[in-house]
Amino acid sequence: MNIKRSLILALAFVMVILAAECKKNETQPEAAAQEFKWQVDQFADLKILRYKVPGFAGLSLAKKELVYYLGEAALCGRDIIFAQNYKHNLTIRKTLDAVVEGYKGDRTAPQWKKFMIYTKRVWFSNGIHHHYSTDKFIPEFSSEYFAALVKECEGVEFPLTQDQTLDDLITFLKPVIFDPAADAKKVSQEATKDLITNSAVNFYQGVTQPEVEKYYKNITDEDDPTPISYGLNSRVVKKDGKVVEEIAFLNGLYGPAVEKIIYWLEKAAGVAENDQQQQVIKKLIEYYQTGDLEKFDEYNILWVNDVETRVDFVNGFIEVYSDPMGRKGSWESLVNFKDLEATKRTDTISANAQWFEDNSPVDPRFKRKEVKGVTAKVITAAMLGGDAYPSTPIGINLPNATWIRKTHGSKSVTLENITYAYNQASLGSGFGKEFSVSKEVLERAKKYGAQAGNLHTDLHEVLGHGSGQLLPGVSPEALKNYHSPVEEARADLFALYYMMDDKMVELGLLPTLNAARASYDTNIRNGLMTQLTRIQPGKTIEQAHMRSRALVSQWVYEKGKPENVISKEIKDGKTFFVINDYQKLRQLYGELLVEVQRITSEGDYEAARKLVETYGVQVDQELHKEVLERYSKLNLAPYGGFINPVYTPVIKDGKIVDIKIEYPADYVKQMLRYSKDYSFL
Ligand code: ZN
Repeated sequence: MNIKRSLILALAFVMVILAAECKKNETQPEAAAQEFKWQVDQFADLKILRYKVPGFAGLSLAKKELVYYLGEAALCGRDIIFAQNYKHNLTIRKTLDAVVEGYKGDRTAPQWKKFMIYTKRVWFSNGIHHHYSTDKFIPEFSSEYFAALVKECEGVEFPLTQDQTLDDLITFLKPVIFDPAADAKKVSQEATKDLITNSAVNFYQGVTQPEVEKYYKNITDEDDPTPISYGLNSRVVKKDGKVVEEIAFLNGLYGPAVEKIIYWLEKAAGVAENDQQQQVIKKLIEYYQTGDLEKFDEYNILWVNDVETRVDFVNGFIEVYSDPMGRKGSWESLVNFKDLEATKRTDTISANAQWFEDNSPVDPRFKRKEVKGVTAKVITAAMLGGDAYPSTPIGINLPNATWIRKTHGSKSVTLENITYAYNQASLGSGFGKEFSVSKEVLERAKKYGAQAGNLHTDLHEVLGHGSGQLLPGVSPEALKNYHSPVEEARADLFALYYMMDDKMVELGLLPTLNAARASYDTNIRNGLMTQLTRIQPGKTIEQAHMRSRALVSQWVYEKGKPENVISKEIKDGKTFFVINDYQKLRQLYGELLVEVQRITSEGDYEAARKLVETYGVQVDQELHKEVLERYSKLNLAPYGGFINPVYTPVIKDGKIVDIKIEYPADYVKQMLRYSKDYSFL
C-alpha cells in the first residue's frame, strides 16, 4: 500500500545540514536576514525558527480566507497527534501547561529552567518521545521538584479523572515521566521482538503483533485491485477478548477534535476557488463524518486531480512512519499556496518525466512504460499542523495508496519558504567551515548548495518515488521493516544519478554540473559522517531516511575503494571524505540504483535485509565520537521546528474584509495559546 509514500521528513535533515553549509545564498537578499529574526529559541537538540509567507498579502480576499479556514482546521487536530503518539501524552501536556500557567514559586531557579526545557521538548515532539529518534526523553529535574511544582499552582485546572486527587495524578505521572524503562520507545524497529508490544505509540492497545497481523490478514482481500488503506484511521484494541478497531471519525475516536476540523473545513468549502476544490473539501468532510476509508480514497482521487487551484492543503491521517507495522496514519495538516515562479522548475522536471524513466539504468522490466501524472509544484507553506508541526517536511508526495498513484498519479510538492528559512537561520553557523575538506568545496557549497539542494528534493520527490514498478504478484509490503529505508534510497539514488547528467544543464535546471558536485559533496559527507550528529553515542542508525543515506554512501564508498573514488583523509586530526572522481561516483550511484530497484520490483526481502544491515545501520564508533566533538563545539541544534504565523480576520460591518498575517516570535506563548484555543480531547 505504501510503496511510494514519501513524506520526506528527513530530507528536511539533509537540508538542515545543507543549509547549515550554505553560509550565504547569493541569490537571496541579505537584507531580509537582518530585519527578520529567523531563529528565536534553542534548547536541548532543538532550535525554533520562523518562516515567512511571501505572497500572502497579494492573494485575493477569498484565497486569504481559504488559507485562514484551512489553517484553523490544521490547528484543531493538535490533540490528536499527542494522543496518537502515546496514550498518556495529553495528560502529561495538560499538566505541564497548567504548571507553566499557574506556578507561583520561583521562576528563576535552575530547576525551573530545566522544567521549561522539558516542557518545550514535549511540545516540540507532540509527546514525551523524541520526534526523530522516538526514544523517551527524561527530565533533568527530580520527581520531587515536579510534585512541588504541581502543588504550588493557582488558578489553573489539572487533567484529573473522576475521583482523582492532585496527589493521585502526581503518583500516576511519576513513572510515566521519570522511569526511563517505562514505554521507552515510541516505535520499535527490533524485528526480533514483538514490534507492537515494544512500541509505546498509541495505535494499538492490549494486542500483540501476531494478533494484529492475523486481524488484517482476515479482513484484507489480496486480489482487490483497489484496496482501501486498511487500518489507516484506527486504533486496534481488545474488547471482551476480541481484536477490534476503533475508528477515528465524528462520532468515534477523537470525535470532539474531528468535529472542530469539520467545522472549519465547511467554512473553507464555502470559499473554495472552484467546484473541483469544493468537491475535494466536501469529500474530506464526508470521510471525517463517517470514518469510511473508501471515501478517503475518493477524496484522494479528487485531490490529486485538483491541480488548477492556487491554495492547497493536506489534512488527515496520512503518513505511517510512526506505526511499526506501517499501517496507521499520524494526523497532520499543511496549508499552502503555489509559488508560481519557482513552480516553473518542477514543471520542467514533470514535463520530462518519461525521458528520465526511459533513460535510467534500471532493468527495463522494472520501468514504467508510461509515467502517469507526475504533478509537481513549489509551494509556500502557510500553516503547519499535527505531525507536521513544528518539525516539518520540506517535500511531500501524496497520496500514499499505491493503486491511486498508479491510476491517478500523485502530487509532489517542495516547501521552498521552509528551506529558505533554514538557509537564512544558518548563516554564519560555522558548520560548513568545520566539515568542508577544502575552501573549494566550501565555496562551491555556498554558491550552489541551496539550488542543488532544492533540485535534489524535486528529483527525489517528483521522479524518484514515482519511478519504477513492481513485478506482477509482488506485494508492496514484501520488504516489511526494510521497506522504508530501501524506498528512500531508491528515490535518493534516482535523484543523485540524474543530478550529474548533462540533461540538468540542458533543461536549465542547473547552471553548470559544478553545482551537482556540491550536491555529491554534501550527500557523501552527510551519509558517511555529519548525519551522525543526530545519534547518541553508542547507538545505531534507526530512522529510515538516515539508514537510506548511510547505506547509499557506505555502499559507494566501499565499492569505489579499488579505484579510490572516495578517499578518507585526516587533516589536523580531523576526518574528511574526499570525492576524487565525480563521474565514477555517478556510475556507482547508478549501479546501486539498479540493484535497489531490482530488490523493490522483485520484493527481495533477504537482499533488502542484507543491504540495510550491512551498510545502513552500524556506526563507526571512533568517527562518531569525533563528529560529535567537532559538532558540539559549534553549539548548534541538529533539529529545527517552526513557529506558525498568526492569521487574524479584519472585520468591518460584520464582514471579513481582509486577513492580517503576523509572525510571532515567542514559542512558549504559541504553545500555551494552542493549548487554550485548540484543545478538544
Ligand atoms: Zn522520500
